[in-house]
Amino acid sequence: MIIPKESHLTPEQERDLQSITKEFGIELMKINGETRTIYLMIGDERQEEMLARIGGLDYIDRVDMVQRPYKLMARDSGLATHKVRIDGKVVGAGFTVIAGQCTIDPKNPNYFYETAHAVKEAGADALRGGVWKPRTSPYSYQGDVKALDILLEAKARTGLPVDTEVMDPEQLDIIVGNDVDVLQVGTRNALNYGLLREIGRKINGRKTCVLLKRSMHMGKIEEFIMAAEYIVAQGNPNVMLCPRGTTPAMDGYRNHPDECIAPLLKERTWAPVIVDPSHSVGKAQYVPFACLAAASYGADGIIVETHVAPRHGIGDDPKQAVTPDVLAKIIRDARAIHELQRRHLEHLMALS
Ligand code: PEP
Ligand code: MN
Repeated sequence: MIIPKESHLTPEQERDLQSITKEFGIELMKINGETRTIYLMIGDERQEEMLARIGGLDYIDRVDMVQRPYKLMARDSGLATHKVRIDGKVVGAGFTVIAGQCTIDPKNPNYFYETAHAVKEAGADALRGGVWKPRTSPYSYQGDVKALDILLEAKARTGLPVDTEVMDPEQLDIIVGNDVDVLQVGTRNALNYGLLREIGRKINGRKTCVLLKRSMHMGKIEEFIMAAEYIVAQGNPNVMLCPRGTTPAMDGYRNHPDECIAPLLKERTWAPVIVDPSHSVGKAQYVPFACLAAASYGADGIIVETHVAPRHGIGDDPKQAVTPDVLAKIIRDARAIHELQRRHLEHLMALS
C-alpha cells in the first residue's frame, strides 16, 4: 500500500508512480478515502528495486507492507481515518439507526409510506425496504422492481436516505442507476466474491455505501473482513459490517445472535459496525433487547425491521418487525447506552 505525503497526488505524480509499478508488472488501484487517497499494489509487491524507487519519490510518505490478509480493512491501514457517511451523516456518530419494512408490498404502498414517516418520526437516520427478496423457497414472493418506485417515492416524501438489498448484477445496475444510498448485501451473498467485486466496481467514484451482512455460515472473523476487502479493493471504502446471526441457530431464536462480535470487529478494522437484531433473534418480542445489547457491545448502529402494521406485512414483517412506537423507545435507550459504552471504553483505554 502506497501512502502519499499529501492527501492527494497530482495527475502527473500519479502517472510517474504508475509508470514505475508498471515496469515491475504491478497494477495500481486507487482507493479514495475521505481524508486521503492511497494506492494498493496488485501483484508481487515485495520487489526491492521497485520499493526503493517508490520510497525515493519526494511526494511519497511510505510504502506499507501489510502482512495481514486484509490490507485495506485493517485498523492500522491508510484508511484508518476514513469515515463512512450516509447522505453526508457520519455513521456511528450518535448511533445510526436504519429502520423500515423487511419487504415493500407493491400491492399496499401506503403501508410503506406510513412506515417511512413513522420511522423518521421515531428518530431513524435511514429507511430500509426490500425490493427484491432472497427467499428459501422459490415459490415464495421474490420481490418486484415496482417496489423500487415506492422506495424512491418514500425517500422523496420523507427526505430519508434509503437502503435495499441487491442479489445479482442486473439488480445492481438498476439500483446504481437510481438514487439508492445504501446497497445491502444479504447473508446469502456475503460469500459471493464475484458479486462483491462487481458491487465495488459499480459504486467506485460514487457516494453509495454498502451494508455487508455477515454470512450465516461464516466462522472466523477474518472471513467477514476479507469479504468487505473485496468491495473496498475496487476503490470505494464506504462499507459497513453487519452481524446478523449465524447458523446453527440458538434454540428458540432464528439464528445464533452475534452482536458480541462488534468489539472484535472494531478492534481489527476501521469500518463501522451496524448490527441487525431482527434476523438474529427473529422475533419482534426479543428485538428490543438485542438492539440494546448491540449498543452495549459498542456497535455503531442497528438496522431494525419496522412496520406500522406487522400483521399485514409480507416477508419477515409479520414475525419480526417492531412497531414504530417500540422503535422510538429502542432508539432513545440504545442511544443512551451507546454513550455509556463509549465512556466505559474510554475508561478502559485510560487504564491500559
Ligand atoms: C433482510 O434484511 O431482509 C434479509 C433478507 O437479511 P439477511 O440477508 O440477513 O437474511
Ligand atoms: Mn427480512
